[in-house]
Amino acid sequence: MRLLASALLCLATAPAFAQTVLVQAGHLLDRPGQPMRGPSTLVIRDDKVVAVHEGFVGAERYPGARVIDQRQRYVLPGLIDSHVHLTSDRGGAEGQLAWVTQNAAAWAYEAEMNAGKTVNAGFTTVRNLGDGKEGVTLALRDAVARGWVRGPRILDAGEAISTTSGHMDGRLGYADWVQQGVETHNLCDSAESCRHAVRVQVGRGVDVIKIATTGGVNSVVGAGLKRQMFEDEARALIDTAHLYGKKVAVHAHGEDGVNLALALGADSIEHGTMLDEESVKLFKKSGAYYVPTLSTINGYKERLAANPNAFAPAVLAKIKWRLDVTGKSLELAMKHGVKIAFGTDAGVSKHGRNADEFELMVEHGMTPTQAIEAATTNAAALLGISQLAGSLETGKSADLIAVDGDPTRDVRVLKSVRFVMAAGKVAKDM
Ligand SMILES: [Zn+2]
Repeated sequence: MRLLASALLCLATAPAFAQTVLVQAGHLLDRPGQPMRGPSTLVIRDDKVVAVHEGFVGAERYPGARVIDQRQRYVLPGLIDSHVHLTSDRGGAEGQLAWVTQNAAAWAYEAEMNAGKTVNAGFTTVRNLGDGKEGVTLALRDAVARGWVRGPRILDAGEAISTTSGHMDGRLGYADWVQQGVETHNLCDSAESCRHAVRVQVGRGVDVIKIATTGGVNSVVGAGLKRQMFEDEARALIDTAHLYGKKVAVHAHGEDGVNLALALGADSIEHGTMLDEESVKLFKKSGAYYVPTLSTINGYKERLAANPNAFAPAVLAKIKWRLDVTGKSLELAMKHGVKIAFGTDAGVSKHGRNADEFELMVEHGMTPTQAIEAATTNAAALLGISQLAGSLETGKSADLIAVDGDPTRDVRVLKSVRFVMAAGKVAKDM
């Protein structure tokens, strides 16, 4: 009996059998920024890279291993998008209607579909910066982590925070009686209420805090894109988030809102459409990242081509302005060596088309290698997950993609990712 008990105990405590997987790569960009390697083999067990060998290593060295042949391809770390909104990519009037007609369960299915498109596009990690749809993306984050659904690793901000009538006020553009049914606990108008708003999100289990110090292009209000928050409110938001060990992603277009946030310790500036020389100085001093989100202009152009009346007049005026200026801030930032992390704002642009951003980044002053670094090592550092993602090294998560050409010569090859592995599981193979 005692023998049987100890045998059972043995079985119960023995690690589950993990098959070794060997990914043979024709070319391997294991650490973006470093030179591309020639033929290499990644050894993967469970969800981790356990070794990287030069040359092609097969089952003769790892008996019973499964071999994945990518010998004709370029293999690199899974890509990271630092700025997405997974619940939807239906903007303008269509999005406004969905917001008051669609229930949480429908948002959840839509978010799951978009997560699938995202991982198919080679993005194995995303930072979801605010959706406010009853916690569906927080639940999706956990569902992906448990292996219930296919998708990228998600770091989620829960509901984004702004002032009343600011960018995150979900009531803007609706009739007064509809507004009465909209939650407002993500809005704050004093240092005290801003501290409270952050604590509400911390309590919901968010990974990061997203705030807006300026107006937003898509807000249905004619209040401009400059600063809309007092210093004590911004300070309270950023300090409270940091008190709980949460990084702060700051939506800001006007340089006044950008510079206020950087001076107060923001971890990243999202959009930053009107960066100036002072912004550059503050970026360099604080070490914050700039997340340009150039893809938004693709989203606007496509939606307007399909329907010139897709946006309310107050929004259309801001879109027209943004179409003209987007990219100029990235050029300035690159000239001065500001740290850049890749982020698309997918949701405004289409999910699954995240890699279109690479082309725009290169158009506005980045080399292909710098753009790839922005979507791997830099984004991993901004998200605080460098120990896990951003490069393919022993001990890191087995997040990798394969493409048919050399992405350090032509970033457009990243738009047709052929193979994706996310946390050791094959997510796409074609
Ligand atoms: Zn956004």
